[in-house]
Order: sequence, then structure tokens, then C-alpha cells
Amino acid sequence: MMALSRTFDRPMTLSLPRIGVMAAMPEELQALLEAMPNQQPVQRAGRVFWLGQWHGHEVVAVLSRIGKVAAATTTTILLTEFGVGEVWFTGVAGGLGERVRVGDVVVASALVQHDMDASPLFPRFELPGSGVSHLPVCPDRVARVADVVRWALSPKQLALGGALTDVHLAELGLPAVPEVHTGLILSGDQFIGSAQASGALRDALPEAMAVEMEGAAVAQVCHDFDVPCTVLRTISDRADDDAHLDFPRFIESVASRYALAMVSALLAARQG
Ligand code: SAH
Repeated sequence: MMALSRTFDRPMTLSLPRIGVMAAMPEELQALLEAMPNQQPVQRAGRVFWLGQWHGHEVVAVLSRIGKVAAATTTTILLTEFGVGEVWFTGVAGGLGERVRVGDVVVASALVQHDMDASPLFPRFELPGSGVSHLPVCPDRVARVADVVRWALSPKQLALGGALTDVHLAELGLPAVPEVHTGLILSGDQFIGSAQASGALRDALPEAMAVEMEGAAVAQVCHDFDVPCTVLRTISDRADDDAHLDFPRFIESVASRYALAMVSALLAARQG
């Protein structure tokens, strides 16, 4: 145990905490790893944690796997074994908000576990024993992240980075300029794939912008450790039975490139 913590202690020369970058999809992690110099793989709990330095920051990149438990385990290892002091999660999500289109991005300003229901002992959605249902993200952080992401996904920056030169956004039915929203993201251990299921979520939590399967678990662990977290989601579907996009193709051709453009720009702009 001593040896472990010594191995991963941060050198004193860097002023900002080591950052954990979690990706939900192998394609997204791959795109990040291709860009991150000098990675060193370390195995823990059946996962590979990639240590490297990127834009002057110490980074640990890892595939979270799907679902809340997998995401919570991965986050806990990042915080306790790798000494990470900040966590970013990038992945895809279903759009719930009326204006949230496929291809847009949502930055979480708060996260709720939509499948947490210990009623009547506790109010629906409340995390038992904590007295809260909504896990907030610091508003300054949300605004800063959204600004950088807007810049990174502007047509000019994407073209400069060569990020979308071979992708036919129109053919995929996507907006040429993605809108970057901030708002509530819901997480639960269910893929929401019907108008009925997404309608029920909208009725219960009308302010929800997107639904996915990991973010609120990451936020809960980060909250317990008092470490800031950022959840960024590219919208892959509308969580309804009208899915018109080829999910794997969307991940490979759009979500992984957006993830790379966003994470790279956020690291370059990172100030603490
Ligand atoms: N078809 C994929 C599985 C996707 S599971 C595969 O073959 O691997 C859905 C993943 O995308 C989860 O990580 C979840 O966070 C996110 N997601 C995207 N759309 C979602 C939706 N409508 N409901 C729940 N999660 C969604």
C-alpha cells in the first residue's frame, strides 16, 4: 500500500491537481489516447488507467464502463489510488430538453439519479441519508467549461483541428453548429429508448436536459471526496423510439471527435 501511494504521488513541481478523464465509450478513449503523449498503462480492478501528461497537466485517462456502479468504482480508484484532484467525464446521452438536439452538447450544472426511489421512507430521487437529490456543480466551473466547449466546437476550431473534415454532418442529420447547453443531467441503470420512458422522466423532472447512465454516480463519489467534477455529454439520441441515427457510427464519427476537441481545449485552458 505504501509502495502504491509512493508510485502515484504527484511530483511537487506541478501546481494543479492531477486530473482524471473518464470516457464511457472505447472509441472516445481511443481518440484521447491517440492524442495524449507518453502514456503508461496501470491495471487496477480489471481496468487500464493510462497515466500521461498533456498540455502541461498530469492526466489519468480511463474507460468507465457502462452504468452507475462501474462509474463509481472507476471514480473511487482514480481518487484513492491515483491521487486525482479533479474528474472529467465525457460520453454520450439521450436528449430530454425540448431544444436539445442530436449532436448538441450538455454540460451538467447538476445531476440526479433518476432511478433512486426509497419512497415513502425518503422523497423520490433523494439519496438516503444525505438529504439531497440534486448534486450541483459549481456554477463558475459550469460557465467556464461551457465557454471553452463552445469555442472548441465552433466550425472554425473543428476545421482547424481537422476534427470533422470527413464527416457528413448533414448526412447524419446533425446541426452544423452544435449548441452547448448547461443544465440538469439524469443518470440511471437503464437505457431510455422509448417515448413513454423519456416522457415519464420529463414529467417527473421537467428541467432535465439529458439522460445517461453514469454521471450522477461520478458526481456522488466526487462530492463525498470533496473533489470537483465536470460531466460533458454529446447527445447521441432523443431517448425515444424514433432513433434515426446509427449509434456506432455516431460514436465513431462525431462523439469521439467532439470528446477529443473538448478535452484537449479544456486542458489547454485549465487554470484550476
Ligand atoms: N449501444 C451501445 C450501448 C450504449 S448504452 C453499445 O453497443 O455499446 C448507452 C451509453 O450511452 C451509456 O454509457 C449511457 O450513459 C449513454 N446513453 C446514450 N443514450 C442514452 C439513453 N437514451 N439512455 C441512457 N443512456 C444513454
